[in-house]
Formats: sequence, structure tokens, C-alpha cells
Amino acid sequence: MPKLTELLQQWKDDPAFMSNVTRWSVVPESEGDYYDFPDYLEPQLHEALMRRGIEKLYSHQAKAIDAVLQDNNVVVVTPTASGKTLCYNLPVISSLIRDSSSRALYLFPTKALSQDQVTELRELTANLDTNLYCHTYDGDTEPGLRQGIRRSGHIVVTNPDMLHSAILPHHTKWVQLFQNLKYIVIDEMHQYRGVFGSHVANVIRRLKRICAFYGSNPKFILCSATIANPGELAALLIEEPLQVVAENGAPQAEKHFIFYNPPTINPELGLRRSSLLEAQGLAGELIRRDIQTIIFTRSRLGVEVLLTYLRQGLKIRPGEDSAIKGYRGGYLPRERRAIEEGLRRGTVKGVISTNALELGIDIGALDACLMTGYPGSIASTWQQAGRSGRRSGISLAVLIANSEPLNQYIVANPDYFFGRTPERALADPDNLIILTNHVRCAAFELPFDKYEQFGRANIGEILQFLEDEDVLYLSDNRYHWMEDTYPAEEISLRSATRENVVIVDTTDRQPRVIGEVDRFSAPMLVHDEAIYMHGGRQFQVEKLDFEEKKAYVRQVEVNYFTDANLSVDLKTLEVFEEESGKVNRAWGDVRINALVSMFKKIRFNTHENLGSGPVDLPETEMHTTAFWISFPPAALESMSLSTVQSGLIGLANLLPQVAAFFLMGDPRDLHAVSQVKAPFTELPTLFLYDNFPGGVGYSAELYRSYREIIRAARKVISDCQCFEGCPSCIGPAYQGGEPGKQQAFQLIEVILQ
Ligand SMILES: [Zn+2]
Repeated sequence: MPKLTELLQQWKDDPAFMSNVTRWSVVPESEGDYYDFPDYLEPQLHEALMRRGIEKLYSHQAKAIDAVLQDNNVVVVTPTASGKTLCYNLPVISSLIRDSSSRALYLFPTKALSQDQVTELRELTANLDTNLYCHTYDGDTEPGLRQGIRRSGHIVVTNPDMLHSAILPHHTKWVQLFQNLKYIVIDEMHQYRGVFGSHVANVIRRLKRICAFYGSNPKFILCSATIANPGELAALLIEEPLQVVAENGAPQAEKHFIFYNPPTINPELGLRRSSLLEAQGLAGELIRRDIQTIIFTRSRLGVEVLLTYLRQGLKIRPGEDSAIKGYRGGYLPRERRAIEEGLRRGTVKGVISTNALELGIDIGALDACLMTGYPGSIASTWQQAGRSGRRSGISLAVLIANSEPLNQYIVANPDYFFGRTPERALADPDNLIILTNHVRCAAFELPFDKYEQFGRANIGEILQFLEDEDVLYLSDNRYHWMEDTYPAEEISLRSATRENVVIVDTTDRQPRVIGEVDRFSAPMLVHDEAIYMHGGRQFQVEKLDFEEKKAYVRQVEVNYFTDANLSVDLKTLEVFEEESGKVNRAWGDVRINALVSMFKKIRFNTHENLGSGPVDLPETEMHTTAFWISFPPAALESMSLSTVQSGLIGLANLLPQVAAFFLMGDPRDLHAVSQVKAPFTELPTLFLYDNFPGGVGYSAELYRSYREIIRAARKVISDCQCFEGCPSCIGPAYQGGEPGKQQAFQLIEVILQ
């Protein structure tokens, strides 16, 4: 019997194990839905595929190709490992064979994915009559190759950041590409949401503007993981009509998917055993049986903590080269490539990773995947689970819930997960800051006509503003760029800023850089005295030089890690829409002042609090959008002030998590603040705000769909087994004087009345 089958049977026979299982789902083996190779594709491509053992196409591939060849824009929505790359590679290559002056541009969210794609393209095109030149163009491309790629690259594979900062601003060097651009491929489309998506939509506006200038009119082929609104997101990104292909025709091997809720250790407080400790136990059993396993954690800290625990559990001494590795952003590329290689060759038996490995980076197929904590979205969960599963034989995925409300909601409502996904991906291409930034970039690239539209956006006022600021000047009804600087360089698509803090290890006489963190996370992660974990080793931050963007660390061995607290102040600036009723709701502009003021030391394993210390770093200020609900006295009837306060604090803890579930955000993308008497409304008010300058659409969507989210919050509270409130529902009890659970429930009833 295969090792995994044997272990699954053992788990099934173990009542202690099974008492933690809320759902054991077996995704059965299924046969594929096959179509003959269409004769309107180049026959030599068919031969190339047959040499690789592919005789027929899956139904979704055939439908997508058909749509593309009929000159439609198309978005393909199918799971991991369903052969979606052929949906674009086949029509693109076929048309390049017929007209080798045509060009295609491929966009992937990361460099690693671009690299993988080029490898695949080269294998597919190796024996064709026509020589097709496919190359990545990104920060790693050798300078000597760049000119050749610009002039004669048939398929240029890059990422949105590179398109934004290096290709579009230098379009005059890319005339061959833009004049003959026939297809634009955008893979992993669901990644383009929130801030990143809002930026990318504007990069696409610039791209289309340049294509129009050179006289080309490319078609778009997009691919996405399953979300509730693929057509809507795609239309938001490309602003054109398109066709959605969503039925998966690929065969599947049997997969066991287990929802695992760690045992309660304190029912009154709703406390459960740590998901990391449970993962350590399960991963140990798998790895000891030589079953290759990937373990996803929700944070970089989780990677390091679990790596330490697992190596201890398997009796591997620190510093010893081992078959168990950590993998996350902040490791240097060389280190990561070695781990990927080890996974493919099977020398690495277990890897603990953040979502850095969730995307299609080639690490081969593993046997088992453990997720410690809900990955934050259903789409991500399926992608992570897709990391296990070979062509034949069974595979395993286990979702281990933690005590957070969203996790408890998912394990208690598995049908939400296995049914039709409720997740909507949002972006706001017209975020004023993001839009203005890209209008600057676009104006640098080509002058604007006085009344020109930018995609669907009316930008007359922005152009006027930029003229007033002496960035543009108007002559003959055209706006021309007049600054010396080059705007794209300062604008990062991934965050409000791209300045990172580098981490310098000063343990040895020769200091060396061991990693980096972004500027906004730095006060939380590398404040003075923080314990920074890297490669299973601990470092203490001796000094964070915020001005110079450097954190100096020294290796230490202590029995704790650190966790910093963030405090925020909110002020309302402008109301966009409001509605009064039993309760009032509105959304608009707000100003947030945030300060990291203290940190806690938390002991390993027991997670007990070992003390705290101050953090002395400057306050940060942000303008963004917020949604808020305020409660007039009539709605609250006889509720006392402390009842209202406790209820508001509970909802402020719970709602960002529940909202993030429906809006495909990270709970960190949405923050909440409660005020018992808000200066602006003069009423008890709960604010939920977009945690990005200018907001990216969450607040507007909350204003529209708040009832659905409030109803889900009510279910979290009523499903929770605690009595007075706990971290699994409304946060620790008695934060506002009264327990909190009943109080939050009362406010929810008021809102839903
Ligand atoms: Zn609870």
C-alpha cells in the first residue's frame, strides 16, 4: 500500500484525530473532457505536442483557442494544473508561425513565473520550421541581450513592474513590438486586485495608448484562478468586451482534502491548540514516512518558528544541513533557487513556506500540503492545495484552522469553500493618487490631447492640475511633459512606496545584508530590540535607522519572539455617499495617523507573554477612504454606554476579517476603528478603512454590500462556542468593560433590523 494511503487509513482509524476533522472531502478522480486538435491551428504545432505526449485538447483549451482565433478577448478560469498555458500558447504561436512579423507580450506577476514560462515556450517551439525568439525581459536580463529582444523578440515575457518602469517609458526603442503587437497575455489575473490591480489597470491603459499610437490593436488573453467575478475583474483591467471560459475539462487524480480544527484547550475562552503546533505534529508524521510535504504558513515569522520546531522535533541540530527548508520573501534569490531545485530532485523532503511558493514556480509535484491557517482566500487555498498532486496516485491537502474568526468561519462552513465561491476581486483604477501617477507616466510617454480620455477615465482636471504644478504645459491643445525627471521610476505598483529597509547582520566582523522588509512593515518587524528570524536563526535588532533604511541585527539565541502593537487615530474629511435610517451609514475620505508604540515578547511553544517594551519611531499619516456605520440614540434604546463601547470594540475586531473574506483582501488591507462619540458624527461609530492611501475600492463596496458581511459576522458570533467573547469571534472579552460577545450581537441586530 502506498505510504500516504496507509497514513490516511491510520488517521481515519484514530478517533482523536477524527474528532478534530470538520470535513474530509475526497475530490474523486475524474476523466477529462477531450476535443480533437482544431485544424485551424498550425499542424506542426500538433506534431510538437504529440512529441510531448499530448494528443488532444481539454474542452476549456479548445473553447478558449476558438474564442481567440475569432478575434475575441478571452478570460480562462480554471484550476492549477489544468493546462491553461496552452490556452494562450497555441493560438499565439500558431499566428506567429503564419506571420513572423507579429509580436506577443506576456505578463506574469513575478520574475520567477516569467522564467518558467520561457522554458516552456522554448520546449514547445524547439522543433518548429519557423524560428521563434522568446525571451524574458526583466531586471535580470543581461544588458547585451536587451537590444536584440527589443528588436526581434517574437514573444516578450515580462512583469507589470517592468512594463511600467522600463518598457512603456522607452517605447521608441520598442517600435517593432508595439507596431506588430497582436496578443497580450495576462496570467494569474486574480493577483491583480487591490492596490496592485488598480495600478496594473492603469499600466494597461498606458499600454493600449501606445499601441494605438503605433497603429496596433492587440487582443487580450487572460487566465485566472476561480473567483466570483472573473469577467468583471477582466473588464476592469482591459476595459473591453470579452468572453469568459470557465468549465474545466482537465482530468484529476484523487485528492483528499481535510479541514482540521485543533482541539479546544479552554472552551470558555474559545482557545484552541496552536495551528503551528498541530502542523508540526502532522508534518513530522508525513516527513518521517518519506512523504514529500509542503507546509504553508501565514507569515514570515510562522516559517521561522515552524522550521525551528520541526528541526527540533526531528532532532536536527541548528546549522546542520537538513532536508527541511524554510522559503519566503527576504531570502536571497540564490538561496531560493537552491531550495526549488532540491524540491524537484526530491532531496528536500519538507519545505515551510509563505505564499511565496503558492504561484506556479516549478518545484515539481509534492505528495502532501499542509496549510497552517486559512490562506486568506478560497482561490489561494486551492492554489496552495494544488501544490500537492501528481498525475497518478492520491494526494493530500490539510487546512489547519487557527483561532482567528475567519478560520473558524471556514472550518465551520465548509460548504462555502467547496461550493460556488463568493469571493469578489476588487480594484479601483480611478483611485485619484494611482490615476494621477499614471497620467504623469503616460504624459511622459506621449503628449495628451486636451480632451483625451485615459481608458474610461475623464482626466481633464488631472491634466489641468499637472499644468498648474508645472509638470505639463499646454500648447496647441496638447499637454506636453516638461519636468526633467522620469516619473515611472518613483512609482511602485506593489505598494505606496518601494523603499525597503535592508537588514544588516553585524554578528561577524564583516557586516552582511541578509534580507529586507518594506518600509511600512519595518516599524512592526525590525524596531529596536525586535527578534528578527531568518533561516531558522534568531537575530536581535540593535538599531533601526529609519532615515537610512537600515536595520542592524546581531545573532542571538533566546526563547521568545516579538510582536508589535499598532495604534491608530482617525478623522473624517469628506463624505461621498450617505444614507440615514435606523442606523446611518456612509463612505468617504478620512485621515489616519498610525503609531507603533510598544512590543511584546512571547515565549516559544507556550506563547506566554514575557514582558513588553516601548518602540520609539515616528508616526505615519495616510489619507484613505472609509466606510462607517453610526448609531443614533433611538436605535440603541436602553443600551448603556459601556454596552455600546464593548460591542463596537468587538465588531472592530471581527468585521475586517469577515469583510476580507468576501472582498479577497488580506485582513491587513482593511482596518477598523471604533469611537463611542466620533467627533464627526457625534454618535457611536464604527469605521472600516482601506489600509492604502486613497483607498482601492473596499470602502465603496462595503457601503453597497455591508448586509451580507454583517450577516456573516453574526454567524461567526453565534457559531463560536465561547461564552463572553474570545479571539475566535470578537476578540478577547472585557476589552471595553463588558464581555463583548452579547454586546456586539446586539449592535448587529440593530444594523440588520
Ligand atoms: Zn468566541
